[in-house]
Amino acid sequence: MAKDNNRSFFSNEMILDIIRNYSNDTIYFKDTDSRFVWTSRAHASQFGIDDPKQMIGKSDFDYFPKEFATRARKEELEIMDSKTPLISNIEKLEKPDGAVVWYSASKYPVFDEKGKVIGTWGISRNITALKTVEEELSRANEKLKRLSQVDDLTGLFNRRYFYEMLEKTSYQYNRRAKTGNPDDPKNTFSLISLDIDFFKKINDRFGHNKGDDVLRVIASILTSQCRKSDMVFRIGGDEFMMLLPDTPLKGAKTQAERVRSALASNPLFLDDSSEPIRLTVSMGIACYADCNDAAELIHMADDRLFTSKNLGRDRST
Ligand code: GH3
Ligand code: MG
Repeated sequence: MAKDNNRSFFSNEMILDIIRNYSNDTIYFKDTDSRFVWTSRAHASQFGIDDPKQMIGKSDFDYFPKEFATRARKEELEIMDSKTPLISNIEKLEKPDGAVVWYSASKYPVFDEKGKVIGTWGISRNITALKTVEEELSRANEKLKRLSQVDDLTGLFNRRYFYEMLEKTSYQYNRRAKTGNPDDPKNTFSLISLDIDFFKKINDRFGHNKGDDVLRVIASILTSQCRKSDMVFRIGGDEFMMLLPDTPLKGAKTQAERVRSALASNPLFLDDSSEPIRLTVSMGIACYADCNDAAELIHMADDRLFTSKNLGRDRST
C-alpha cells in the first residue's frame, strides 16, 4: 500500500487554523474601506488583543499612528485601483513611545469570482532585528571608508584618497570647462606639492617620536591655513599635497606664501633647550588650466617643488 505521508490529515480548516493561530508573520484581510474582515492572532496580539475577531470592522486608524495608517490606506487604494500587489515593501513604524519597528510587507488585491476587487489582504514580517544589524553594518562601513581615506599619524587625508580626489576634481573641472566660461579664473583648480626641508635632521637630533610630533604640527598648520573647500593630504614621509578648488595659479601662490609665513611665525620648541626650531618647507605649485591632465598636473607641481629645493629651499615655485 502506498504511503500517504499523513497528507490526508491536512484539511483546509486545519491549515487555516494553523495559519491564523501560529504564523509569526501578521496576516489580515480588509474590505474596500480598509476595514478588517479577518486577522491572524499575531496581527491582533501586536496591539494586545487576544481574540482576533475583536478587530473585525476596525481599521488601521484604530491601532496605528495616523501617519502610518494614512500611508497604508493610500497604498491599499492604489492596489485596488491598479489591481496590482505591492511586494516586500519596507515600512517604518514610529511608535508613540519613540520605539521604531520595521516591517517587510506584501499586500494584494482580493477578487470575487467575477474578478471584481472586493478588498485587500496582506502579510507583514517584523524585520527590526535585521534592520538594526543592517544599520550597524552600514555605520561600520562608513567608518571603515573614512579610515581608508585618512593618514593615521596626522589625521589628514592619505595618498590613496589624494589620487581619488584628484581624479574626481579634474573630471569636474573638465566638465566645467566645457560648459562654463573658460576665461573665468575660478574655473580651474591648483595643486601645491610640499616637502619639509631637512626633516631628516629633526629625526636625527630629536628622535623619531619628536619627528612624528612635527609632522602633526605641520598638518595642523596646513589645515588652519586652508579654506573649507581646500583639501590637505599627507602623501608619505614628509610630503604633503594641497588641492585647491576654484583657484588659479595666482591664488595658489598667495596660499603657498600664507603657509610659509604661518610656519615662520610658529617656531617649534622640541626640547628643553631655549633654542626654538624654525621649520621651513619647499613647495611646487601647478594649475590645472596649464595642464592637459591630472598626471601632468602632479608632474608639474613635483618638478617645481624640486626647483624650490634646488634654489635653496624655504620657498615656492
Ligand atoms: P629635503 O630638504 O631635501 O627634503 O631633506 P629631508 O631631510 O627632508 O629629506 P627627505 O624629504 O628626502 O626625507 C624625508 C625624511 O622623513 C626621511 C625619513 O627619515 C623621514 N620620515 C619619513 N616618514 C616619517 C615618519 O612617519 N615619521 C618620522 N618621524 N619621520 C619620517
Ligand atoms: Mg624633506
